[in-house]
Amino acid sequence: MPKFGTASLRLLALMAVIFIANQIRPIFVGAPEVSADSVFNTERAFQRLTTILGDETPHPVDSDANDLVRERLLDQITALGFEPIVRDEFHCATHRSGAVRCARVQNVAFWVTPPGPNAVLVLSHYDSVPAGPGAADDGIGVASSLEIAAIMKSRELSRPLLILITDGEEPGLIGANAFVANDPLAQLVGAVVNMEARGVKGPALLIQTSRPNGRDLKVLEGRGIRPVASSLNADIYDLLPNDTDMTEFLGLDIDAANYAITGGAHFYHTPRDNLANLDQRSLAHMGMNGLAATEAFLAQTGSEPEGERLYADIFSRFVISTPVMFGAAFMLFGGVMAGALVYVKRGDGAIIRAATAPLLALVLGLVLAIAMTWLVGVIRPERFFGGTHPWALRGVHGAAALLGGFLVYGYFVRATSRTLLLASAWVWFAILGLTLFVLVPGAAIIFAPSLIIFGIAAILALLKRPAASGILAIIGTLVFAIIALPLAQLGEIGLFIEGAAPFAITAGLLFVFAAPFTLNEDGQMWPQRRQITLVAVGVFAAFTIASLVVPAYSHTAPRGMSVRHVQDAGSGDAHWVFSGREAPPKAMRDIAGDVALGEHPVLGERQLAPAPSFASAGLSVGVVADGVSDEERSITVDMSAPDADRMWVSLEGEPFVTKLRFNGVVIEAEDAPLHFIICTGRSCVDNTLTLYFDADAPAPEIQVMAQYYGLGPESEALLAARPDWAVAQHSGDQRGVYTILALDPEEEEE
Ligand SMILES: [Zn+2]
Repeated sequence: MPKFGTASLRLLALMAVIFIANQIRPIFVGAPEVSADSVFNTERAFQRLTTILGDETPHPVDSDANDLVRERLLDQITALGFEPIVRDEFHCATHRSGAVRCARVQNVAFWVTPPGPNAVLVLSHYDSVPAGPGAADDGIGVASSLEIAAIMKSRELSRPLLILITDGEEPGLIGANAFVANDPLAQLVGAVVNMEARGVKGPALLIQTSRPNGRDLKVLEGRGIRPVASSLNADIYDLLPNDTDMTEFLGLDIDAANYAITGGAHFYHTPRDNLANLDQRSLAHMGMNGLAATEAFLAQTGSEPEGERLYADIFSRFVISTPVMFGAAFMLFGGVMAGALVYVKRGDGAIIRAATAPLLALVLGLVLAIAMTWLVGVIRPERFFGGTHPWALRGVHGAAALLGGFLVYGYFVRATSRTLLLASAWVWFAILGLTLFVLVPGAAIIFAPSLIIFGIAAILALLKRPAASGILAIIGTLVFAIIALPLAQLGEIGLFIEGAAPFAITAGLLFVFAAPFTLNEDGQMWPQRRQITLVAVGVFAAFTIASLVVPAYSHTAPRGMSVRHVQDAGSGDAHWVFSGREAPPKAMRDIAGDVALGEHPVLGERQLAPAPSFASAGLSVGVVADGVSDEERSITVDMSAPDADRMWVSLEGEPFVTKLRFNGVVIEAEDAPLHFIICTGRSCVDNTLTLYFDADAPAPEIQVMAQYYGLGPESEALLAARPDWAVAQHSGDQRGVYTILALDPEEEEE
């Protein structure tokens, strides 16, 4: 048995504590238990939602099922004593990318107060994706909105209150886009509270505010709501290509608070986003936060001065917040003081090694975490392999960070002082914080609070008060852990565990802040380096092996696996097309026969299998006009498919279409040429599309696919073979009939 000295034992104990804290961080971000005595009545809200969703049939925009949902929603609004307004229009929303999304949308709105300007708007959407009933997405928002309205009805309000429940959010924010563009009510809106879901459980996070955020943050001050929010989350949300209805409202330059639940994201847009899986604690948390936000905006005029602030909740008990420039100043203060301490202590041992060790430790830990995650991903056949047992990959990340730290501190650093090692860790922490600040200012909330404390600790060390300095160094480390560990967990939820390796830096930073305390008094490094290396490598290897062998998918973390049955309208050639590039489950391959990765004529590279053709009501596409005037060519195409649920049109070739007209709606290109049109619902069975472009440019090839929700009898055996760990997602299982129209066939040009 190797005998460990005190210093080595302290180090091992420290590494175990950091590792365990990193593993158990999910408990920091569970759905908070909110007080039962809140005026927000969760039971009543859930009951209303149950009534509205009826038999929980998916209800995408402009479908029979959505008509029924809307009727029941209107009944609930009327029963609460309000007068619903329904806006019915065919509308197209154009995305910056050049995609056009159209549908007949029927937004539902009602006033809680008499109508008036500068109103607070409570926002949610009632349509679902075709794959699932949307009990959370966005039943949680609908249920919360109705209960908030019911509560506010009996109150004397100083600002008007409007509720808007949009339609057509899922196919591309079409209802919200129509409201902002065309509805006179939009002119009356002065602040917005949106409630959304990208999962079925967990806390309601404040994911977005308007910028600057000073006035918006008043929404976090309500009583007893257990806020979960941080400026880092908000900045990261803005960087990612996520959209909710809120996106449409931010252009109005009004105050905004956007909430979403994100836990259980594997059920997002699947049949499992149902009432049984919707965590009622999440509904309670969403409702109470939505209510608090509504109250906060109602209490403001919306013209109070505001600035940009950093903020974060502390264990969802309270929120710390500071102006963004103070955050920068705190980081600078900590970094400069720590730098001064390094300068004074430079005589204590090998200065270059001590000064670079923290950076090397962090980099080595990150490289190990990212490289091993990548390697496991290469070896495993599944695209998402960590969701069922996230502890395994999280263990790899934590062990990598600690192993990286230990290798650098154990073998590279020479005998030195605790103070010098600590000070150089703080300097690098400040440099990291200030660098990130340029890209993601909100991240400063992780750095600034501990760097004030580290700065004071450095001053005390310079004043030769080592005991007090040491205590502050430990407090600063704990403050960092309290803020950073829950944020790392939220990051893991947001990016999924397979993308979470960079969050290993949290464990790495804890190591460089704390490891110097395990040194012997004479500054000697840990005596039993060999044995500790074996332990650290062993833990890293064990979690790597675990992440290689744990099952990837399960009922609670299923794989998205929609099946499309797609056929050529002309030849009748049909394929089964499976979602993703990963091979479909074996049971399904056994039924489908010859499944292989191949190039589909309109869907691109997919897992395909030949399929029997199915009876279809037909798709007809034809050019009805083609002419040039003023050097602009216009081509009009009629396309119809009786009974289709959706019409999908892709313009192939060099993108150049600057204007189009679809069913009477004229759309001009914004940043990118128009290249894609998708029309969802019953109003898309007969369409007229006119493209406008430079007469000298070649006409595009037009690919048209009529889509039908669900599959026919030909696919029954295939669907029956889909295992419990695979589930339809987003647009779900569907049939499609396509045709390709070459407007300027090459033969003619020759
Ligand atoms: Zn949604």
